[in-house]
Amino acid sequence: ENTTVVIVGAGVAGLALGNFLLRSGIDCVVLERRSREYVEQRQRAGVIDTRAARMFREWGLADRILGGAPLEPVLNFRVDGRTRPFRYVTDDHGDGRFCPQQVLVRNLIDVFVGDGGDLRFGAEDVELEDISGPRPRVRYRDGAGVTRIVACDFIAGCDGDHGVSRSSIPEGELTRHSHEYGYAWLTVLAEAPANHQSMMAIHPRGFAGQFARGPRASRFYLQCPLDSSVEEWTDDRIWEETEARFGEPVGVKGRISSKTLVPLRSVVHDPMSHGRLYLLGDAAHIVPPMSAKGMNLALHDADVFATAVVKQVKEQDAGLLDAYSSTCLKHVWNYQAFAAWFTDLMHDAGDASYHGEFRRRLARAEFERLYDSETANQLFGEFLTGLN
Ligand code: FAD
Repeated sequence: ENTTVVIVGAGVAGLALGNFLLRSGIDCVVLERRSREYVEQRQRAGVIDTRAARMFREWGLADRILGGAPLEPVLNFRVDGRTRPFRYVTDDHGDGRFCPQQVLVRNLIDVFVGDGGDLRFGAEDVELEDISGPRPRVRYRDGAGVTRIVACDFIAGCDGDHGVSRSSIPEGELTRHSHEYGYAWLTVLAEAPANHQSMMAIHPRGFAGQFARGPRASRFYLQCPLDSSVEEWTDDRIWEETEARFGEPVGVKGRISSKTLVPLRSVVHDPMSHGRLYLLGDAAHIVPPMSAKGMNLALHDADVFATAVVKQVKEQDAGLLDAYSSTCLKHVWNYQAFAAWFTDLMHDAGDASYHGEFRRRLARAEFERLYDSETANQLFGEFLTGLN
């Protein structure tokens, strides 16, 4: 079989890329290891920033892709038991969306498949071959156990941090830059409606967050030590700790459907390509979830890569493809800087046991500056919307 681009992974990056290429008349095949049902119910992020929403509009897809509610330009902080809404100044015009990731993924799949896109679920044992040669190949086993080989011009590695794409690049070709924040988040999904889009607690016991995920569910986050285990976190303890950090009762303590521990870290792989393989999204970089930028960075990579492939295929101009890695990395580092700042601020301002009282007071001063300084407000707003 032959195509122009093989896309490995049907997450946010892979599906957005597939749709952009399909609309541009460029052949592609998307290979996904999991089933459609699995991918469509996988719950993660919840914020599509203004930049990403406008990108879908520019590709002519906003009406069919963007679900959820308009993003309110307000973050609700709960500081030592007191609610302190923070309204940021923005020219967002209601473009950003509060949209569960699985809703975005479902819409991306519906549109891609509905428009005749080639999306193959249950692709097992994906292997990339000859990625530095002129015509790389992707080998996999389909649902019936038959081995298939697709030859292509380019491979888009959109298969996340644990995928096969990045590990196909020979050792020593990529540099991994990383930072560990020293704590984890217990992330909990519960049938508990929120009466706000976000609530974030700064508290001496540690950070806590509640984010609406559709009208009936919320995701809760609790800062905890790296050596914490999910077993230690009984449902009762989760609710007690959440209430202690918020300093008020949780309205509805519904069924908890999942609990996971996520160590907070930042990772960047440089460069984001090797030969004819290009890395997009989590395959290339991880930002701490505090920033709500992981999904938006994946969408940015898809936009940059699709534009570059269109330029190459339609005009035989490789300039944008050659610049793919440096274009994306500039944006990625800018957002890593924002993510590191916001992550440190929110955690240091609460629990001083990690970085001490001096850093706690610095973080409190930075937090107050967001309210006191129009300039600080504006910069924060630019990052939140992605319009910087
Ligand atoms: P993914 O969405 O992970 O997609 C990768 C795809 O590749 C998957 O479908 C996977 O099944 C497939 N795959 C993997 N290996 C293979 C293989 N060998 N062969 C074929 N297919 C393969 N981001 C935000 O912007 N805001 C948030 O609030 C936020 N909160 C988060 C909360 C949690 C708990 C987690 C885990 C993440 C959160 N993120 C958030 C991050 C965000 O979910 C990711 O950054 C985003 O999903 C990255 O998209 P992606 O397409 O690169 O990867």
